[in-house]
Amino acid sequence: MGGMKQALVTGASRGIGRAILLELAAQGYAVLVHYGKNRELAEAVAEEARALGAPRVAVFGADLTDPAAAPALVEAAETELGGLSVLVNNAGVTRDNLLLRMKDADWDAVIATDLTAVFRLTREAIKRMVRRRYGRIINIASVSGILGTPGQANYAAAKAGLIGFTRSVAKEYAKRGITVNAVAPGFIETDMTAALPEAVQREYLAQIPAGRFGRPEEVAKLVAFLAGEDAGYINGQTICVDGGLTPC
Ligand code: NAP
Repeated sequence: MGGMKQALVTGASRGIGRAILLELAAQGYAVLVHYGKNRELAEAVAEEARALGAPRVAVFGADLTDPAAAPALVEAAETELGGLSVLVNNAGVTRDNLLLRMKDADWDAVIATDLTAVFRLTREAIKRMVRRRYGRIINIASVSGILGTPGQANYAAAKAGLIGFTRSVAKEYAKRGITVNAVAPGFIETDMTAALPEAVQREYLAQIPAGRFGRPEEVAKLVAFLAGEDAGYINGQTICVDGGLTPC
């Protein structure tokens, strides 16, 4: 299995996805930088990945709410990286509002990106992984899917769904050398959390035992471990990276 180090990270143009991609690049993976709208940022991440020594680096843009995105992305990884041993489903969005104010479109957008797109991409990637009898899938969930967060019913539902999805798929392919795990970050400093009102940020901070927010790199280290061969007996788990906030 030593030669199988090809990773596709969705939403790698910014934030947590970028940190995951660069950590994998530093560990010698061939990497595909997926992005949604920010092509220039993705190209810059690719440049950084090359500088870190990634043997092959590709960039691919696709709106993950489009059903055609999953086959196109996996095909691009196969041809440009020479295979696909690691899929990190990281891309995600929030459309926060209290339930009574939540529009159907807010619900649909979050479920489509944070849950349905992961289903499609995982199904597509696992087809190839099953043939090679090796694979690592890591789904970026959230502590919101465990704790429930007010104003995020759509997001909490999608992330809780992702945790259930992870557990089911892990059991289906455990005998084929494939593991499927979820990582649930707490409050990590990215564009997503910078968009929250300051009062909400202060409220979160008061609840975090570590007394600080997390950094994308702190999530990336765990993802890289789960992506490695040494993590082969960890399967179907959800691991929180949240400064002690959640009894995971
Ligand atoms: P972010 O900074 O907002 O970045 C989101 C990434 O997802 C971007 O690369 C974006 O691509 C991509 N993306 C979003 N919608 C897409 C779509 N429809 N099609 C293709 N790409 C799409 O987010 P983040 O904070 O790094 O979060 C990354 C993951 O961690 C998400 O799943 C999030 O739910 C989860 N998470 C974050 C936190 C936190 O505190 N930050 C906590 C728990 C969980 P473009 O920019 O190219 O459009």
